[in-house]
Amino acid sequence: MTDRKSEIAANLAKVEGRIAAACAAAGRGRDEVTLIVVTKTYPASDVRILSGLGVRHVAENKDQDAAPKAAACADLPLTWHFVGQLQTNKVRSVVGYADFVQSVDRPRLVTALSREAVRAGREIGCLIQVALDAGEGGRGERGGVAPGDVAELADLVAGSEGLRLGGLMTVAPLTGEYAGHERAAFGRLMDLSTDLRRTRPAANMVSAGMSADLEQAVAAGATHVRVGSAVLGVRPGLG
Ligand SMILES: *Cc1c(COP(=O)(O)O)cnc(C)c1O
Repeated sequence: MTDRKSEIAANLAKVEGRIAAACAAAGRGRDEVTLIVVTKTYPASDVRILSGLGVRHVAENKDQDAAPKAAACADLPLTWHFVGQLQTNKVRSVVGYADFVQSVDRPRLVTALSREAVRAGREIGCLIQVALDAGEGGRGERGGVAPGDVAELADLVAGSEGLRLGGLMTVAPLTGEYAGHERAAFGRLMDLSTDLRRTRPAANMVSAGMSADLEQAVAAGATHVRVGSAVLGVRPGLG
């Protein structure tokens, strides 16, 4: 094994151990939680290593980095998730490689995703990004719709050709009543998911939890955790 491969393998084993322990503590089966490794800022060679180590889900947040990486890894059995704020002029590119867009947060984006998915002959799984610190009609600083606006956007996705409503996603807020209270924030996301599944039972994905708070997300009931730095290392600078 190369040094980089052993490093990633060791980190991955640690994260696996954390997820397994969190599942056990919550009385959940390990198979109820899917690990998505966030590969942003890291090279395609790392994605290839991850695939070789059995990772099946990866995520990116910037199209200009993700598009060439996905192209370089097109031979690998990976599911690609887009998790960053998405401008409508990048939608055509993203639809070319992403299986899921987890950051759906406005009607115009839904329209653009639907149009490009149909054009490409693809079906894109869409998660509504919820900003738990946004007021009704508002948006989160890092994207996302207010809890009160989830249902309307979910209906729009569900009625759009080329799109499949997957569920909900959130990032633990840094401001507002939930700042510093990840477990409560993820609990709120679960309540919103329960509401949504009353009318849309197939929209059962709950994407929450990152390197620092995956335990709280698993405890709350998350089905997908998005882990970057705990697997690949701390990213230099922003990202
Ligand atoms: C970067 C990122 C992650 C992973 O964060 P880490 O702290 O590195 O685990 C998860 N979700 C989103 C939306 C991200 O942008």
